[in-house]
Amino acid sequence: MKMSEALKGGAAALVLAAAACGGTAADKPAASAVQIELPEITVTDAELEGNPFRADWTGPYGVPPFADIRNEHFRPAILKGILESRAEIQTLVDNTEEPTFENTILALERSGASLNKVMGVFGNLSSTDTNEAIQALEGEVYPMLTRERDAVTFNPVLFARVKAVLEAGDRLGLDEQDARLLELTHRNFVRAGAALAPDVQAEVATINEELSSLTTQYGQNLLTETKAFKLEVSDPARLGGLSEDFRNALDSDGNNTWVIGLDRSVYEGFMTSAEDRDLRKQLFDGYRLRADSGEFDNGALAIKIAQLRARRAELMGYKSHAHHVLENRMAKTPEAALGFLARVLEPGLARAAEEKADMEKLAGFPIEGHDWWHFSEKVRADRYAFDENQLRPYFELGRARDGAFEVAERLFNITLERVDVAGWHPSVEAYDVKDNATDEHLGLFMIDIFSRESKRGGAWMSGYRDSSAMDGRVIRPLITNNMNMVAPASGQPALMSFTEVETLFHEFGHGLHGLLTTIRYPSFAGTYGGPDYVEFPAQVLEHWASEPQVLAEYARHNVTGEVIPQALIDKMNNAATFNQGFKTTEYIAASLIDLHWHMLSSEEAAKITDARAFELDVLKKYNIPEVIEPRYRTTYFSHIFDGGYSAGYYAYLWAEILDADGFDAFKQSGDIYNPELSAKLKKWVYESGGLRETDELYRNFRGSDPGIEPLLRNRGFAAKPPAEG
Ligand SMILES: [Zn+2]
Repeated sequence: MKMSEALKGGAAALVLAAAACGGTAADKPAASAVQIELPEITVTDAELEGNPFRADWTGPYGVPPFADIRNEHFRPAILKGILESRAEIQTLVDNTEEPTFENTILALERSGASLNKVMGVFGNLSSTDTNEAIQALEGEVYPMLTRERDAVTFNPVLFARVKAVLEAGDRLGLDEQDARLLELTHRNFVRAGAALAPDVQAEVATINEELSSLTTQYGQNLLTETKAFKLEVSDPARLGGLSEDFRNALDSDGNNTWVIGLDRSVYEGFMTSAEDRDLRKQLFDGYRLRADSGEFDNGALAIKIAQLRARRAELMGYKSHAHHVLENRMAKTPEAALGFLARVLEPGLARAAEEKADMEKLAGFPIEGHDWWHFSEKVRADRYAFDENQLRPYFELGRARDGAFEVAERLFNITLERVDVAGWHPSVEAYDVKDNATDEHLGLFMIDIFSRESKRGGAWMSGYRDSSAMDGRVIRPLITNNMNMVAPASGQPALMSFTEVETLFHEFGHGLHGLLTTIRYPSFAGTYGGPDYVEFPAQVLEHWASEPQVLAEYARHNVTGEVIPQALIDKMNNAATFNQGFKTTEYIAASLIDLHWHMLSSEEAAKITDARAFELDVLKKYNIPEVIEPRYRTTYFSHIFDGGYSAGYYAYLWAEILDADGFDAFKQSGDIYNPELSAKLKKWVYESGGLRETDELYRNFRGSDPGIEPLLRNRGFAAKPPAEG
């Protein structure tokens, strides 16, 4: 399971967000309608002089002229973009002609082009190559865009026009993509509250604003508390178990004081290796009790956020926030998501109990939460005699990348060819992606593999430019992948762990979802879909990475060229299901906390006074043993209280149903490149964006709904099927 996101840095997400109504109360007849006060914005021609965002990008593939873009270009270009979006929306609202698909739905889809152009670059650079000026501007820009979006959503004239077109829908003779655009445009308005009575809209708008500030505060508290925690060790005898590299990294000043912070990679490394049980306990508590009390207490904020979300859902006519969020997701209801989690949890808990017993046999005493990482590693070394580092010489970055490309070339009949195009950083590589059948250019793929100070952690896919085909103009996407591999010393090969290889395949899977799209409209082209679906095209590609047939192509020793020995692959595969009881339980525990916070009715939420007690009740209800710490707790669960995953953290596991079941189809056919299956996978998953509801897209590929058995098998929770010939 990967925690990386398919970030949509590009335009589509902003098409609605960006557009805005510039109308004032005096202009509009709908006196009772909610007015979202929009600030007056001024930007002069002089401020835009020589601004690269105001020019056509005529270089190869229309790539942004990165070398010419400076920090001071962003703000005026964004402000001008907002003004132009407002004007476009105003024209639409002022139109006295009968609403048509062309003058309303298409006009909305087209709006915001100049804003999207600058935001595509701004959003991406803020993740991949940020600086103080960009960070400061983020705090100003995003709340501004939220307000602009609300002004569009709650504009009654605009919504009336959209509704009129929808009602005429069947008589318009629209083709499938046009009809879907109409349907989704209307649905997005309604789901954001456009159909509510004006006084209800007023309350929703107030809640939106309040939530925006509370969630920001939650994130800032967490950052403060995370940075504040430091475990200082001055006695080197207490660092037993840590490698020399790791120890050196903890003593960056070289003054023999070792400082252990709450960075996830440091946390995991220390909890796994450190022999000192008391230090492990201190770090464990430091990690899980962050923002738990005192000045930066996130518990009270979480309650308030849950209450406001419940109230907003009630205003919108839903039982709970989770019911509202999941309505268009694959799971459809929180009850279905809960049922699924419970089904995987059961064998997970049973396996975790076995794992605990194994560790206690080795340790000779009862295991506690701060012991699990440490003793599970000891059991692993004991049982599998396998160290992931043995694999590294066989996973050289260039070969692994080519291996992933070759899988895609064979599955989808495409070619990726290296081209010389300047990116945002000298280490960025660019590839022209072509369809072999038609020789058509599909898009430009740019990859940025190595970590640096200016890049945020993790791995992700995004786009600088979405694909579209409107008004006779075909624009193909500019898609990127980012990773955070440590760059090798000069002249040395970049050797990867197998986890990094899987991440590379995963992000490339998201990339293909963006590149292969045949959807004309940015608002549902490419990686469209809720998280419980959109992780599928990424996660499914990971399966090819460990197939012997594929490994034989790319996993070669970086010095001798020898193909990875089968014995090593076997060891790797045998160890793959190790500790899955723990991993499954810690993940599902966090997912349950998320769903239960967001399944509260407004009335129930109002009664909650103690966040920790609420959370403990949930864990108890599902028999989560105390020794297994949930992956996240309420006070440091950014995904759901300061990110886009509220009521959606279950999605990674849900998407695993699809990738396990989907890849199983290839395995059962006896050909991992089965032409019939790969053609369907290409057409219905990678090309179709949000053309149909996601469960239908999946069925069209697979021929049936997904079954859960392949997932259970992959996690080692069910008997393996008979070996294939
Ligand atoms: Zn992903």
